[in-house]
Amino acid sequence: MPELPEVETTRRGLAPHVEKRRVKSVLLRRPDLRWPIPPEVSQDLPGQRIEAVRRRAKYLLLDTAAGSALLHLGMSGSLRVLPAKTAPTAHDHVDIALDSGRVLRFNDPRRFGCLLWQAPGETHELLRDLGPEPLSDAFDGDYLFERSRGRSAPVKTFLMDQRIVVGVGNIYAAEALFAAGVSPLRAAGRVSRERYGLLAEEVKRILAHAIARGGTTLRDFLNPDGAPGYFEQELSAYGRGGEPCPRCGRPLKEASLGQRTTVWCGHCQR
Ligand SMILES: [Zn+2]
Repeated sequence: MPELPEVETTRRGLAPHVEKRRVKSVLLRRPDLRWPIPPEVSQDLPGQRIEAVRRRAKYLLLDTAAGSALLHLGMSGSLRVLPAKTAPTAHDHVDIALDSGRVLRFNDPRRFGCLLWQAPGETHELLRDLGPEPLSDAFDGDYLFERSRGRSAPVKTFLMDQRIVVGVGNIYAAEALFAAGVSPLRAAGRVSRERYGLLAEEVKRILAHAIARGGTTLRDFLNPDGAPGYFEQELSAYGRGGEPCPRCGRPLKEASLGQRTTVWCGHCQR
Protein backbone atom coordinates (compact mmCIF):
# COMPACT_ATOMS: atom_id res chain seq x y z
CA MET A 1 0.00 0.00 0.00
CA PRO A 2 1.39 3.42 -0.87
CA GLU A 3 2.43 5.23 2.31
CA LEU A 4 3.13 8.92 2.77
CA PRO A 5 6.66 8.79 1.26
CA GLU A 6 5.39 7.04 -1.88
CA VAL A 7 2.60 9.60 -2.23
CA GLU A 8 5.05 12.47 -1.78
CA THR A 9 7.38 10.82 -4.30
CA THR A 10 4.43 10.57 -6.69
CA ARG A 11 3.64 14.26 -6.15
CA ARG A 12 7.22 15.32 -6.85
CA GLY A 13 7.36 13.12 -9.92
CA LEU A 14 4.12 14.47 -11.36
CA ALA A 15 4.52 18.16 -10.55
CA PRO A 16 6.96 19.15 -13.37
CA HIS A 17 4.74 17.44 -15.96
CA VAL A 18 1.35 18.56 -14.66
CA GLU A 19 1.69 21.98 -13.03
CA LYS A 20 0.80 24.97 -15.27
CA ARG A 21 -0.67 22.57 -17.85
CA ARG A 22 -4.20 23.01 -19.09
CA VAL A 23 -6.62 20.07 -18.99
CA LYS A 24 -7.87 19.28 -22.47
CA SER A 25 -10.28 16.49 -21.56
CA VAL A 26 -11.12 13.90 -18.94
CA LEU A 27 -11.88 10.30 -19.85
CA LEU A 28 -13.51 8.08 -17.25
CA ARG A 29 -13.48 4.42 -18.27
CA ARG A 30 -15.77 3.60 -15.36
CA PRO A 31 -18.09 5.78 -13.24
CA ASP A 32 -16.58 4.87 -9.89
CA LEU A 33 -13.51 3.77 -8.02
CA ARG A 34 -13.96 3.23 -4.31
CA TRP A 35 -16.74 5.84 -4.55
CA PRO A 36 -18.61 7.34 -7.52
CA ILE A 37 -16.57 9.96 -9.38
CA PRO A 38 -18.49 13.23 -8.97
CA PRO A 39 -19.75 15.04 -12.12
CA GLU A 40 -17.47 18.05 -11.50
CA VAL A 41 -14.44 15.96 -12.52
CA SER A 42 -15.64 15.59 -16.10
CA GLN A 43 -17.67 18.85 -16.25
CA ASP A 44 -15.51 21.45 -14.47
CA LEU A 45 -11.95 20.15 -14.83
CA PRO A 46 -11.61 20.32 -18.65
CA GLY A 47 -10.32 23.73 -19.76
CA GLN A 48 -8.80 24.47 -16.36
CA ARG A 49 -5.12 25.10 -15.74
CA ILE A 50 -3.57 22.96 -13.00
CA GLU A 51 -1.91 25.53 -10.77
CA ALA A 52 -0.32 23.10 -8.30
CA VAL A 53 -0.10 19.46 -7.30
CA ARG A 54 -0.39 19.33 -3.52
CA ARG A 55 -0.34 16.54 -0.96
CA ARG A 56 -2.35 16.42 2.26
CA ALA A 57 -1.83 13.20 4.27
CA LYS A 58 -2.00 10.52 1.57
CA TYR A 59 -4.28 12.54 -0.72
CA LEU A 60 -3.11 14.39 -3.82
CA LEU A 61 -4.88 17.55 -4.94
CA LEU A 62 -4.76 19.00 -8.45
CA ASP A 63 -5.59 22.65 -7.78
CA THR A 64 -7.42 24.72 -10.41
CA ALA A 65 -9.43 27.94 -10.25
CA ALA A 66 -12.65 25.88 -10.55
CA GLY A 67 -11.79 23.51 -7.70
CA SER A 68 -9.43 20.66 -6.92
CA ALA A 69 -9.41 17.06 -8.08
CA LEU A 70 -8.77 14.96 -4.97
CA LEU A 71 -7.01 11.64 -5.53
CA HIS A 72 -6.12 8.76 -3.24
CA LEU A 73 -4.09 5.77 -4.45
CA GLY A 74 -5.82 3.35 -2.09
CA MET A 75 -4.13 -0.06 -1.86
CA SER A 76 -2.83 -0.46 -5.39
CA GLY A 77 -3.26 2.79 -7.30
CA SER A 78 -0.61 4.53 -9.37
CA LEU A 79 -0.37 7.66 -11.50
CA ARG A 80 1.77 8.07 -14.58
CA VAL A 81 2.31 10.70 -17.25
CA LEU A 82 2.28 9.12 -20.70
CA PRO A 83 2.14 10.18 -24.35
CA ALA A 84 -1.53 10.70 -25.23
CA LYS A 85 -1.46 7.94 -27.85
CA THR A 86 -0.35 5.27 -25.35
CA ALA A 87 -2.91 2.46 -25.46
CA PRO A 88 -4.62 1.82 -22.12
CA THR A 89 -4.05 -1.45 -20.30
CA ALA A 90 -6.19 -3.29 -17.76
CA HIS A 91 -7.23 -1.15 -14.77
CA ASP A 92 -6.36 2.18 -16.45
CA HIS A 93 -9.54 3.83 -15.18
CA VAL A 94 -8.99 7.56 -15.71
CA ASP A 95 -7.12 9.72 -18.25
CA ILE A 96 -6.67 13.44 -17.71
CA ALA A 97 -5.38 14.75 -21.05
CA LEU A 98 -3.06 17.76 -20.85
CA ASP A 99 -2.14 20.43 -23.40
CA SER A 100 1.42 19.04 -23.44
CA GLY A 101 0.27 16.07 -25.52
CA ARG A 102 0.47 13.78 -22.51
CA VAL A 103 -2.10 12.17 -20.28
CA LEU A 104 -2.12 11.75 -16.53
CA ARG A 105 -3.32 8.15 -16.20
CA PHE A 106 -4.73 6.59 -13.03
CA ASN A 107 -4.39 2.80 -12.75
CA ASP A 108 -5.87 0.92 -9.79
CA PRO A 109 -6.42 -2.86 -9.98
CA ARG A 110 -8.14 -3.16 -6.61
CA ARG A 111 -10.09 0.11 -6.82
CA PHE A 112 -9.66 1.20 -3.22
CA GLY A 113 -8.43 4.52 -4.57
CA CYS A 114 -10.68 7.48 -5.24
CA LEU A 115 -11.12 10.53 -7.45
CA LEU A 116 -13.26 13.19 -5.82
CA TRP A 117 -13.78 16.95 -6.03
CA GLN A 118 -13.16 19.80 -3.63
CA ALA A 119 -14.90 23.10 -4.32
CA PRO A 120 -12.80 26.31 -4.19
CA GLY A 121 -12.31 27.57 -0.64
CA GLU A 122 -13.73 24.41 0.90
CA THR A 123 -12.07 21.52 2.68
CA HIS A 124 -13.35 18.11 1.66
CA GLU A 125 -14.86 16.16 4.54
CA LEU A 126 -12.16 13.49 4.16
CA LEU A 127 -9.53 16.13 4.99
CA ARG A 128 -11.35 17.97 7.78
CA ASP A 129 -10.31 16.14 10.93
CA LEU A 130 -6.73 15.35 10.04
CA GLY A 131 -3.82 16.08 12.36
CA PRO A 132 -0.72 18.02 11.28
CA GLU A 133 1.73 16.85 8.63
CA PRO A 134 4.61 14.93 10.25
CA LEU A 135 7.24 16.91 8.34
CA SER A 136 5.76 20.27 9.34
CA ASP A 137 6.90 22.44 12.24
CA ALA A 138 3.52 21.88 13.91
CA PHE A 139 4.56 18.29 14.62
CA ASP A 140 7.15 17.96 17.37
CA GLY A 141 7.74 16.39 20.77
CA ASP A 142 5.85 19.08 22.66
CA TYR A 143 2.82 18.57 20.44
CA LEU A 144 2.84 14.79 21.00
CA PHE A 145 3.36 15.26 24.73
CA GLU A 146 0.42 17.67 25.08
CA ARG A 147 -1.95 15.57 22.97
CA SER A 148 -1.10 12.34 24.80
CA ARG A 149 -1.71 13.38 28.39
CA GLY A 150 -4.29 11.13 30.06
CA ARG A 151 -4.33 8.64 27.18
CA SER A 152 -4.00 4.96 28.06
CA ALA A 153 -3.91 3.68 24.46
CA PRO A 154 -0.56 2.19 23.38
CA VAL A 155 1.79 4.83 21.99
CA LYS A 156 1.95 3.05 18.62
CA THR A 157 -1.83 3.25 18.24
CA PHE A 158 -1.69 6.92 19.26
CA LEU A 159 1.04 7.65 16.69
CA MET A 160 -0.95 5.97 13.90
CA ASP A 161 -4.13 7.96 14.68
CA GLN A 162 -4.69 10.29 11.70
CA ARG A 163 -6.36 12.84 14.00
CA ILE A 164 -3.07 13.10 15.93
CA VAL A 165 -0.66 13.13 12.99
CA VAL A 166 -1.20 12.02 9.38
CA GLY A 167 0.77 9.54 7.34
CA VAL A 168 2.57 7.53 10.03
CA GLY A 169 1.60 4.02 8.88
CA ASN A 170 2.49 0.70 10.46
CA ILE A 171 5.97 0.50 8.91
CA TYR A 172 7.03 4.01 9.93
CA ALA A 173 5.51 3.80 13.41
CA ALA A 174 7.40 0.55 14.09
CA GLU A 175 10.68 1.95 12.77
CA ALA A 176 10.42 5.29 14.58
CA LEU A 177 9.58 3.61 17.90
CA PHE A 178 12.54 1.27 17.48
CA ALA A 179 14.91 4.12 16.63
CA ALA A 180 13.66 6.19 19.59
CA GLY A 181 13.83 3.22 22.00
CA VAL A 182 10.15 3.53 22.97
CA SER A 183 8.08 0.36 23.45
CA PRO A 184 5.03 0.35 21.15
CA LEU A 185 2.96 -1.05 24.02
CA ARG A 186 3.68 1.77 26.48
CA ALA A 187 0.62 3.89 27.33
CA ALA A 188 0.77 7.12 25.27
CA GLY A 189 0.15 9.15 28.43
CA ARG A 190 3.17 7.57 30.12
CA VAL A 191 5.82 8.71 27.64
CA SER A 192 7.89 11.71 28.77
CA ARG A 193 8.21 15.00 26.91
CA GLU A 194 11.89 14.26 26.28
CA ARG A 195 11.17 10.84 24.75
CA TYR A 196 8.39 12.31 22.59
CA GLY A 197 10.96 14.82 21.35
CA LEU A 198 13.17 11.94 20.26
CA LEU A 199 10.23 10.06 18.74
CA ALA A 200 9.08 13.08 16.69
CA GLU A 201 12.64 13.54 15.40
CA GLU A 202 12.83 9.88 14.36
CA VAL A 203 9.46 10.05 12.57
CA LYS A 204 10.71 13.04 10.58
CA ARG A 205 14.11 11.50 9.88
CA ILE A 206 12.70 8.16 8.68
CA LEU A 207 10.01 9.72 6.50
CA ALA A 208 12.46 12.21 4.98
CA HIS A 209 14.91 9.40 4.25
CA ALA A 210 12.21 7.32 2.59
CA ILE A 211 11.16 10.29 0.44
CA ALA A 212 14.80 10.92 -0.56
CA ARG A 213 15.16 7.26 -1.54
CA GLY A 214 11.95 7.38 -3.56
CA GLY A 215 13.34 10.35 -5.42
CA THR A 216 15.84 8.16 -7.22
CA THR A 217 13.08 6.49 -9.24
CA LEU A 218 11.29 9.60 -10.51
CA ARG A 219 12.25 8.85 -14.11
CA ASP A 220 9.74 5.98 -13.98
CA PHE A 221 6.87 8.44 -14.19
CA LEU A 222 7.66 8.92 -17.85
CA ASN A 223 8.20 5.27 -18.62
CA PRO A 224 5.04 3.53 -19.86
CA ASP A 225 6.41 0.17 -18.78
CA GLY A 226 7.91 1.37 -15.54
CA ALA A 227 6.73 0.47 -12.11
CA PRO A 228 5.50 3.36 -9.97
CA GLY A 229 8.24 5.14 -8.09
CA TYR A 230 8.01 3.09 -4.94
CA PHE A 231 11.16 2.43 -3.02
CA GLU A 232 12.49 -0.21 -0.74
CA GLN A 233 13.43 0.92 2.69
CA GLU A 234 15.98 -0.60 4.99
CA LEU A 235 13.95 -1.78 7.95
CA SER A 236 15.21 -2.42 11.48
CA ALA A 237 12.06 -3.81 13.12
CA TYR A 238 9.07 -3.97 10.76
CA GLY A 239 8.57 -7.47 9.33
CA ARG A 240 11.49 -8.89 11.28
CA GLY A 241 9.76 -10.61 14.24
CA GLY A 242 11.98 -13.37 15.70
CA GLU A 243 15.12 -12.08 13.99
CA PRO A 244 18.00 -10.67 16.04
CA CYS A 245 17.62 -7.05 17.16
CA PRO A 246 20.04 -4.96 15.06
CA ARG A 247 21.13 -3.17 18.25
CA CYS A 248 21.45 -5.88 20.94
CA GLY A 249 21.09 -9.18 19.08
CA ARG A 250 18.20 -10.51 21.18
CA PRO A 251 15.22 -11.87 19.20
CA LEU A 252 12.68 -9.20 18.22
CA LYS A 253 9.23 -9.72 19.72
CA GLU A 254 6.05 -9.81 17.65
CA ALA A 255 2.45 -9.23 18.72
CA SER A 256 -0.84 -8.03 17.31
CA LEU A 257 -1.75 -4.50 18.34
CA GLY A 258 -4.94 -2.90 17.04
CA GLN A 259 -5.17 -5.67 14.40
CA ARG A 260 -1.72 -4.75 13.07
CA THR A 261 1.44 -6.79 13.55
CA THR A 262 3.91 -5.04 15.78
CA VAL A 263 7.59 -5.91 16.13
CA TRP A 264 9.87 -4.51 18.80
CA CYS A 265 12.83 -5.29 21.03
CA GLY A 266 11.89 -5.93 24.65
CA HIS A 267 15.38 -4.95 25.72
CA CYS A 268 16.06 -1.78 23.69
CA GLN A 269 12.53 -0.37 23.73
CA ARG A 270 11.00 0.59 27.06
ZN1 LIG B 1 17.53 -4.83 21.17
